[in-house]
Order: sequence, then structure tokens, then C-alpha cells
Amino acid sequence: MIWLMLLTLLSISLVCAFYGKKLMVWTVAMAVGIFIFAVSGSVSILSLVLVTAVFVSITIPLNFHPWRQQMISAPFLKQFRRMLPNMSETEQVALDAGTVGWEGELFAGKPNWQLLKKQPYLELTVEEQAFVDGPVEELCDMLNQWEITHRDADLNPETWEFIKHNRFLGMIIPKEYGGLGFSAMAHRAVLQKISSVSSVAGSHVAVPNSLGPGELLLHYGTEDQKNKYLPKLARGEEIPCFCLTGPTAGSDATSIPDYGIVCKGKYEGKEVLGMRLNFDKRYITLAPTATLVGVAFRLYDPDGLIGDKEDIGISLVLIPRKTKGLEIGKRHLPLNVPFQNGPVRGKDVFLPLDALIGGTAMAGQGWRMLIECLSVGRAISLPSCSTGGVKMSALATGAYARIRKQFSLPIGRFEGIEAALARIGANTYATSALSRMTATAVDLGEKPAVPSAIAKYHTTEMARDVISDAMDVHGGKGIILGPRNYLGRAWQGMPVWITVEGANILTRSLMIFGQGAIRCHPYVIKEIEAAKIENVTERINRFDQLLFSHIGFTIRNAVRSLVLGLSFGKFAAVPHDRKTAKYYQKLSRYSAALAFVSDIAMFTLGGKLKQKEHISARLGDVLSHLYICSSMLKRYESQGRPAADQAILAWAFHHAIYRIQIALQQVVDNFPNRPMRRVMNFVVFPFGRRERAPGDRLTHKVAQLLITPSDTRDRLTDGIYKSAKTGHPVGMMEVALPQVIHAEPLERKLLKALKNGEIKGFTWEEQLQDAIAGSIVTAEEADILIQVRKLVMEIIAVDEFDLEEIQAGRQTPAAKKDTQLENQHAA
Ligand SMILES: Cc1cc2nc3c(=O)[nH]c(=O)nc-3n(C[C@H](O)[C@H](O)[C@H](O)COP(=O)(O)OP(=O)(O)OC[C@H]3O[C@@H](n4cnc5c(N)ncnc54)[C@H](O)[C@@H]3O)c2cc1C
Repeated sequence: MIWLMLLTLLSISLVCAFYGKKLMVWTVAMAVGIFIFAVSGSVSILSLVLVTAVFVSITIPLNFHPWRQQMISAPFLKQFRRMLPNMSETEQVALDAGTVGWEGELFAGKPNWQLLKKQPYLELTVEEQAFVDGPVEELCDMLNQWEITHRDADLNPETWEFIKHNRFLGMIIPKEYGGLGFSAMAHRAVLQKISSVSSVAGSHVAVPNSLGPGELLLHYGTEDQKNKYLPKLARGEEIPCFCLTGPTAGSDATSIPDYGIVCKGKYEGKEVLGMRLNFDKRYITLAPTATLVGVAFRLYDPDGLIGDKEDIGISLVLIPRKTKGLEIGKRHLPLNVPFQNGPVRGKDVFLPLDALIGGTAMAGQGWRMLIECLSVGRAISLPSCSTGGVKMSALATGAYARIRKQFSLPIGRFEGIEAALARIGANTYATSALSRMTATAVDLGEKPAVPSAIAKYHTTEMARDVISDAMDVHGGKGIILGPRNYLGRAWQGMPVWITVEGANILTRSLMIFGQGAIRCHPYVIKEIEAAKIENVTERINRFDQLLFSHIGFTIRNAVRSLVLGLSFGKFAAVPHDRKTAKYYQKLSRYSAALAFVSDIAMFTLGGKLKQKEHISARLGDVLSHLYICSSMLKRYESQGRPAADQAILAWAFHHAIYRIQIALQQVVDNFPNRPMRRVMNFVVFPFGRRERAPGDRLTHKVAQLLITPSDTRDRLTDGIYKSAKTGHPVGMMEVALPQVIHAEPLERKLLKALKNGEIKGFTWEEQLQDAIAGSIVTAEEADILIQVRKLVMEIIAVDEFDLEEIQAGRQTPAAKKDTQLENQHAA
């Protein structure tokens, strides 16, 4: 009976922990349990006394606050204050910027799925949709990626004019200032469609609508600045660029050596109080063509002209192009994706103080302004451009894999190609769902700091994987550049997306979990704040309360992780649907595991966790994949759970869960504290590591969906440019695909006859004539075959050039003249 009693008390504890009940509830439940055994008389007095003594000695100090403060909280607080990470002002700003949304639920270990279900699935307004179907479609008709990247190294003047005239550069500027005032969803839809045709055009439209003068002015500009610049920016009369990066300050952007000194000087003929700036910036997008240059620099006031602070801090200024001392350098060439990009330098540039964005009041607030805006920009620009790129790759690769035949079969029927196609399909589904979710967060008024880092990193990484797979499937067709190549430039330009707006290794290693752990955690920020309270009594009271809630939280997550691991997620409260319940259960399980492991990592490593990038990167992977899976489920549910999409969702989901397992496994296996390694292994993987990568049958199903026209394929690639009107090669393939499929039975007849020796011709044309003569195909069927063969030959063709044509894009006028002379000599 004593064992039964202990088992009952353990069960009570587990149930209370699993549901996160308060300490007092647990105490009362345990007391009731002991009392029932006592009155039943089934347990010996000695056992009862022993159990009661242990119970009382634990619960009294825990529930009697002065004792527990003295015995537990005070010593812990002392240790905690020593362990506190040294947070620089810039790190503090990064942590303070932004809001916490769905990622907070995932990080806290017990996601409330109803909140995700309640989130709206936003659509475009009629006006926004009309813009996407009208001017955006028209712009796409005008874009020829080969001419842009090879011949002109720029958009042509008509295209620039069209972009400005239709206010593409003012999508985020409200209508009252002459902009389009679009929602984040519309902004996403526009960038997605343009980027599916040309990444250069995509960048040119994305940058002015992202972090830069427009957005900074909107949020922090003075009324005068807004009225002066926003209408011109919206109409494209001012082209903006924003300069943060310099030769010595890349990822570590706060270390910029660029400076301004507050002083008096002459401006437009008058003596005014202003600042003299010196700076050296590089990699600046749109700089070569910009008319309004935003610059980040550190402002100093050594003579105390505007206050008593000498080092005022990072500040932001707007400099008109014609300003004396401002030098816009020549152009950089970013990996043969020649969007406008180059260096900007300033030597003793004098400006009045009202050139500061937000005026003197915002001097020194530059880093906060940048970080606050970064989260919004990163949630939209690169995720939307990546979505356009991956959707185009999925559409084109699926079609090409069906059209291109080798060994008498469409290459998409080979298992090796199927593996690549399945990865493409799943990554496309995930990229699109993720970018939609972060854009939705922006439209719902959030500043999604952590999701935007997740979206920036994962959409660009998935895009890199998709483009690599697409290139492999296309073979030589992807490699030979020219007007017929729709992949090569995207593949070349991929490292640009990986590097800009926070390089990916840094984003994964430091930002996702680094920000997530502190921002999303329900107690850590509060504990840090409590530890800094001046008044000792207030400090210990507050810290004690938080510490015990935190301990309860950790125990709850440990128990949830273990119980959900043992029960394969069965006890998690999830939406009831036969097809998707098991997905939510898995996410609930790994959410609890993430919360538990994160707490252990923070507890055992303290401030050192910041340097343990292996650990924080992997925990960031877990949080990211939980978020991506949530976005995919949201998409699937909101689209009415289409049965035909189930295979793609399943592939993408199992792939993500498998990666969660790998990430957690690597954290556990490499955790520096050996005893904790054992505990974590037991709690997170009670039955071992049982997740499996998507199986071959599922891979086959997804690949088939990509190579056959269907609603699923349309949904997967919706919102991109698919028109064949201007001879766009991807649009042409879409036209050809149904015809190719229609002709497949006829081709099989021809092939069979050839194998059986019923037709004998050497060439394809002779074989077809034999087939007509032998009544193997009718004359009409032969016409179909001829027509389709013509289309196929056109699709698989690649470009060829004279030497001069290839050199044209590369040579300076002087070198070109030399080559012409050499050619004349040779002639
Ligand atoms: C085409 C292009 C356009 C750009 N446009 C603009 C623009 O318009 N305005 C602007 O201001 N800037 C712009 N940039 C700059 C861009 O934001 C920087 O390139 C980026 O911040 C990285 O800096 P870096 O290239 O100097 O690399 P580095 O900072 O030298 O980084 C090199 C590598 O080290 C990694 N790394 C650095 N620190 C850490 C760490 N603590 N942990 C782990 N890994 C780390 C990085 O992830 C990266 O992989 C542009 C860059 C390019 C290439």
C-alpha cells in the first residue's frame, strides 16, 4: 500500500505539473491525497508519519514566503546578479524593439492553438488586387531579365519611368502623402510577382519600400520632413538609399566609425548650427541612382552646443545628392545581378541639424529607429522576393521535368529527380506560408522582431535550396546563360539575399534564439528587471515571486515534454481533426521540449550562452521550424484543408520535425554539462530519437504533383507571373505542358512500335512517316506529335553567342576598342 500511496502522490504531482497548476493547488491536492490514505487505514502509521514529515518539510518553506526568500531566493538572486549577461545599450535596444506574437506561445511550451486558429487569413482589398492584376502584370510584361542583367546592367528607362509613374516606390507611403498606402499583404504580393520574373526589378522596388528614408520618415520624421520628402518619394521624384554598412562595420553595424561633429557653419548662405560629417560607406543599394541619401553616423557634441552629452550616439541624416562633400562612388557588381549598388563617401559634409531624421529630438536614437523598422522590413522584403523566386522555380522545374525526356521517359519520373522535386515542392509550400504569416503579423500591428529574423533566414535558405535543386534538375539548360535561361541569374544572385539585411550565419547564430530566448520567455526579462530594482525588499519580493513561477514553468515543461514524448503527444490539447491533430500534437511536444532545454541552457550557462553559438543556433532552428510548421498548418486550414495538398504539407511537416529532432539531439549531445545532458536526453527523448525523414512514397506523390497541372500545383505557385504573352520562357512552358502531356500516349505508341521493329526510320521524322504508313498513328495524331516536338525543341533549346556579344556586357569602352582593333588585325 505504501507503494500505491507514493504512486498516487507522484501522479498528483505529474498532473499538477503537466497542467501548470500553482504551488498552493499542488500542496492542497497532495495533502488531500495523504489524508485519504490516512483515513483509509491502509498504510502503516510509520510510513504515514514518514511521508507526512517529508511533505511538510518541503511544502512549509515553499509556501511560507519569508523562509523561502531567505533559504532559496536570496542566495539565488545573489548568484543571478553575478550571472547576468553584460548587455550593451545596443543589445538592450534590440531586445526592447518589437512585439511578441505567436512565437511567444511556441517558446513558452504550451501553445494555445485556438489563438492561431483565430488569427485572420488576410486577403488583398479590391484596389490592391487590381494593382497586382494591372500595373504589376504590365511591369512584368516589360521585364526581360537577360537584357537587364547582361545588356543594360539596369532596368531600361521606360521601365524605370513606369515604376515611378505607378508609384511602385511608394507602396508603404500613406495616400495622404501621395503613396499607395498598401497593406503588408499587398506589398508582399507585388514583390512576389515582380521577383518571379526579375530579381533586379524586385530589389529596386523592395529597397525604397523597406528600411530606408521612406519608412524612417514615416515613423520618426518631423511634419516638415514628411511633407517635404514623402510625396516626392512616392512619385519617384526622389530616389532614396540608406547607408549603414562601411568597410570596417558590416555585421557589427554599431561599430561604425563614421562621425558628425556639432558645429556652426554656412548653409545656403547663412550661418547655422549644424554638423560636419565624415563617412565611408559601401554596398549601398540604389546609391548610384539615388537623389536622397540616408546616412547613419555617430554624432558628437564636444562643445556642448546642443546639450551636455559629448557622445550623443548613432543618428540618422538625410543628405540631398547635390550636397557639397557628398561623393556617390561608381557601381559595385553584385554577382551578375546588377541592381544599382555602390559606395558612398562624405568629406566634411555640412548640414543643418534639421537634416537629422526626426530633428534634434531624435539625435542619438538612430539605432533604436533602425532596429524598430528592421523587424517590419525583414518580415516582408526578402521573404516576399524569395517566395516569388521559389514559386517560379517550382513551376518551371515541374514543367521542365515533364517536358524533358531522357532514356525515353520524362526525367521527372526518375526517383533521383523525384527527390529534388519533392524538396522543391515542400520548400515552396513552407516559404510561402512563412512569408504570409510574417506579413500578416505586420498587418495586425505587430513589430515581429523574432519572426522577421526567422523569415529572413529561412525563406532565403529555402530559396537557396530550391534554386540549387532546380538547377540540378535542369542540367545544362540551367547553366547556359542567355534569354532562354530563367534560373541562372537567380542561382548566381542567391548569396546576395543570404548576406543582406543581417547575414544569415549571424542571424541564425545570434538573433533568432538570442532575441527569442529573452523576448519570448515569460519570466527572463522580468527577472532581469527585478534583479536591478534598487530597493532591497522590493527586489527580493519581486524576484522571489518570479523565481518560483519560473521554477514551476520549468517543471511544467519538463513534465509536458516527458509525458508528451512517452504518449507521442496524445495528451496535448489540440484542435480535433483526424488529419491534422497528430501534427499539432508533435508541435506541442517539441514546444515543451524547446522551453525546457532553453531554460536549462540559460540556467547552466547564464551570460556565457551568448558565446555558445552552436547551442543558440540549434535552439533557434527548433523555434524556427515550430513557427514554420505553424504557418503551414494555418495555410492548410485556411485554404479549406484541400485533400490534394495533404502530401506536400506532410512532406514539409515531417522534414521540419525531423530537423527539429536533429537540432535538439545536437544540443543534447554537445551540451557542456554532462549530468544535464543525461537529464535532457531522458526528458526530451524518452523513447529515443524516433522521428523519420519523409518516406519515398510521399516523395513520389509530391513530385507527381509538381509535374502535372492541377489545383494543387496552381495553389502552390499562385501570385507569380505566368504569362506567355511576351515570350517569357516559363509562361511558354506552361502553355506547352498540357499539350506535351496530351501527346504522351502517342509517343508511347511510337516508342513501342520502334522497340517491336514495326517502324525503322533513322531520324524521328522518318520514324513518324513509317508510323503513319503502318497505321500506328493517324495523320491527325502525327500532326499533334509534330506540333509538340516543335514546342519541346523550343523549350529545351539554349542560347549561343558570338564572342563579341558575350564580351559586350563585360568590356569597358577602351577594352572594347582594343578588341575591335585586334579583330581587324586578325581579319
Ligand atoms: C548586394 C548588397 C546590397 C547591400 N545593400 C545595403 C544597403 O543598401 N545599405 C547598407 O547599409 N548595407 C547594405 N549591404 C550590406 C549588408 O547589410 C552587409 O553586407 C551585411 O550586414 C554583412 O556585412 P559584411 O558583408 O561586411 O560581412 P561581415 O560582417 O564581414 O560578415 C562575414 C560573415 O561573418 C558572419 N558573422 C559576423 N559576425 C558574426 C557572429 N557574431 N556570429 C556568427 N557569424 C557572424 C556573417 O554572418 C557573415 O557570414 C548590402 C550588401 C550587399 C552584398
